[in-house]
Amino acid sequence: MQRILTVCPHCSCGCGLYVLVERGEAVGVMPSVGHPISQGRLCMKGWTSFQHLHRAERLDSPYIRQNGTLKRAGWEEALTHLVEGLGAVRSKDGGQAIGVWASGRSTDEELFLLSRLASQGLGTTAVRFDRSLQSLDHIPASLVEGFRAAKFDEVQAADLLLIFGHGFPEHHPQVASRILKAMDEGTSAVVISPYRDLLAERAVLHLRVSSPEEVALALTEEEPPGHLRALWDEAKWPLVIYPLKSLPPDREARLLRAFESLLAKASAKVLLLFPRANSRGAFRWKGGGAASEPSGLKALLVVEEDPAAWNGNFRELVRGLDFLVVQDLFLTETAELAHVVLPAASFAEKGGTLTNTEGRQQTLRPAILPPGDARPGWAIAAEMARRLGLADVGSTLEEIQQGLSSGQVQAVLPAETACESPPERFATLEHVPNRLGWMWLKDTILRHTDDWQREHQDRWVELHPEDVKTLGLRPGCMVQVAGEGGEFQATLRISERVGPGVLVTPHHLFEGPVHIERAK
Ligand code: SF4
Repeated sequence: MQRILTVCPHCSCGCGLYVLVERGEAVGVMPSVGHPISQGRLCMKGWTSFQHLHRAERLDSPYIRQNGTLKRAGWEEALTHLVEGLGAVRSKDGGQAIGVWASGRSTDEELFLLSRLASQGLGTTAVRFDRSLQSLDHIPASLVEGFRAAKFDEVQAADLLLIFGHGFPEHHPQVASRILKAMDEGTSAVVISPYRDLLAERAVLHLRVSSPEEVALALTEEEPPGHLRALWDEAKWPLVIYPLKSLPPDREARLLRAFESLLAKASAKVLLLFPRANSRGAFRWKGGGAASEPSGLKALLVVEEDPAAWNGNFRELVRGLDFLVVQDLFLTETAELAHVVLPAASFAEKGGTLTNTEGRQQTLRPAILPPGDARPGWAIAAEMARRLGLADVGSTLEEIQQGLSSGQVQAVLPAETACESPPERFATLEHVPNRLGWMWLKDTILRHTDDWQREHQDRWVELHPEDVKTLGLRPGCMVQVAGEGGEFQATLRISERVGPGVLVTPHHLFEGPVHIERAK
């Protein structure tokens, strides 16, 4: 059996793991013991990260839409169709009418090439490289790359952890385990979150507030709640930890500005946690367009993202597009709407690098061959770029990496936001997104991972007992939840971990307030 050392494709902790290969097939994974992040441990997402690789549903050929139906095609036919389709939109409506959306899971090389393809090949700034982030503009680079930006190991070196948010064991398990270890060793932790989770239960102070940004601002200017002032002033090595995208962009911007003021304290540091395996790479390549819908766009290139699965309005809005190209591992809900579908290699079938949330750039190594005619994303992006007129993109991964290190990419500006308010027909509650298991069910890879599907089938939301009573709901009943981005049905759970007036939903489904009523 061969063991190929590579990187987990899921969260931005960036664990090192071995893909176990027998007769050309991936049959399992095991954690790297010597790797500084994994240290011999993986979470369930990591342990099951090989299960999607040999699924029969993997795309193994390009498809093009003919007479309303997707038909198998060769690469030459598909790429010719793609260039003609994008070219027609560019001639008629201009390059700015073309959007390029890629994934926070795409490699640095793929994001670099797509940046060049967008700015130099298509002439568009309508670029977004991690749907889960939506907007990157408000994140100060000094909090990500400056000397105040902490590494994982500094969690245990701190004498006060100021934790904004919840759900760490689910969304960043390796950070959660370091926090718990630090607590076991006597480090004081303050949790500022409306949700009473495992870390909040063990903290010296849990401020159950729904506006953590107000607490951060109070700490910079006036008297914060509880004895937070005393704890902060006494700390010699305080560390602020915050999982990005836990708040809507405007509130998150306020929180991050407050962090900048807090870091004026000589020894304070911050650890910002990006959501996905290469969201930090997305930040680097400036793919932070703010548009959540393709309003104003006439064509869209979507790389390993599935907005139709996340956003109920996307199907409607995509009807306004003249041309949709999707590159992915599976025929996703978005791919089903496309004019051209391109089959992509998985993380275990390609080379490249992923940058974890603390800025550690790590190497992906191909362990097995992709199925059929599927190709690595970097090879697809390079070929598209060449056909769109960029002669110098390179044709091997090494050549592309040389171009990447010379930084030959133009900054891409964000697109405009276009949001509509949700209908006012339900009881309105404050929305608290929680990165619990269900959010990962919207993840293209985890949707094709057997063990994960078996363990996380239940779709639920959490509500405080007082609200359940006021709304005349019952625990276990199905409720209809609506917000900006669509509607869904889920089982209702009662929990005092949630404060009154707050609804906890799976992460990323909505922005702003959500609305709830009993499902019909
Ligand atoms: S903690 Fe993150 S990187 Fe590590 S195994 Fe789990 S999902 Fe993968």
